Amino acid sequence: MVDFGVYMTNFTVGPVQSPSCVHEIGARDVPYFRTPEFSATMLESERILLALAHAPANSRAVFLTGSGTAGMEAAVMNLLSSRDRAIVVDGGSFGHRFAQICAIHGVPHERISLDPGRALRPAHLEPFAGRGFTALLVNMHETSTGVLYDMPMIADFCRREGLFLLVDAISSFLADPFDMASLGAGAMVAGSQKAMACPPGVSLLALAPDALARIDANDPGCLYFDLRAALKDGERGQTPFTPAVGTLLQIHARLREIEAAGGAASEIVRTAALAADFRGRIADLPFENLSESPSNAVTALRVRNRSARAIFSVLKDRYGIWICPNGGDLADDVFRVGHLGALESEDNAALAAALHDLHSSGLF
Ligand SMILES: *Cc1c(COP(=O)(O)O)cnc(C)c1O
Repeated sequence: MVDFGVYMTNFTVGPVQSPSCVHEIGARDVPYFRTPEFSATMLESERILLALAHAPANSRAVFLTGSGTAGMEAAVMNLLSSRDRAIVVDGGSFGHRFAQICAIHGVPHERISLDPGRALRPAHLEPFAGRGFTALLVNMHETSTGVLYDMPMIADFCRREGLFLLVDAISSFLADPFDMASLGAGAMVAGSQKAMACPPGVSLLALAPDALARIDANDPGCLYFDLRAALKDGERGQTPFTPAVGTLLQIHARLREIEAAGGAASEIVRTAALAADFRGRIADLPFENLSESPSNAVTALRVRNRSARAIFSVLKDRYGIWICPNGGDLADDVFRVGHLGALESEDNAALAAALHDLHSSGLF
């Protein structure tokens, strides 16, 4: 049988390694869910998610069955329309995805295109001021290049311009500080398989009151992604259709674990320490950090001799380690190391030792 990971160490950016509270639920049967007991777990998950996101009063959460992209698409379909004019920050493959979703759903938009690894600066935003835009879409952490955008700077611009701010925080939620209320963000999308460290297949949406008003006024023109129905059933802890019940129970357990351990802040501190520990261990190797402003979630490394793919394969086949390869134009130049999920400093030590081996052997 192919070894799909029992003895592998996983440094990708999702799915990531899960803590034992998530494993235990995965080993059990999936229960029936049209029950008061399941409703109670969903209502508790909603409460904890909104608290971890620092969502403003009277916000709501939706747990949508579908990976993170489903959450991004549902957000665009329900929160924006052909009457909007959106600015899309496009610094890599996830920024492209937001633009593609807007195009498919007829949302007028303009892109701010950034070279791989570059930060967004006020000078990029200024040309868009005072021109009738209504919304700004950003992937807080552009996972493909490891760039964490300056959210307070973006939020200031949105406030000045009266823009609705939609944040894809799928890879940064619980890894980098995010305060929805103080940013004035209208909506945040997270995913089950990044720092939540659960199986993939559920996206988590936090919706502020201005987002709820937009949803009320909008017809998304579809059944499954209609957030009006999800919000209505969610009032009693239920969903319009059969959700990924097992994953939702894992998410519930994980949210409770994070809350009990001190909330988002302690998870962020742990992730930041893990990232700093890894970066320190490889500082002497001839890599260049691709990102001008790295997230705690990921270290994106450029390799001078274009051996990034080879490094991925050798680590997988000879060392039992998964790192995260890049796709597209960066496939040979860049690989990424994730710091999400159940990883420890000793895992960093093993990966750093393997990379030092490969350097000595002349692979890069
Ligand atoms: C992982 C990720 C997504 C979602 O990808 P899925 O494969 O649909 O889960 C979206 N945006 C960002 C920034 C991500 O890191």
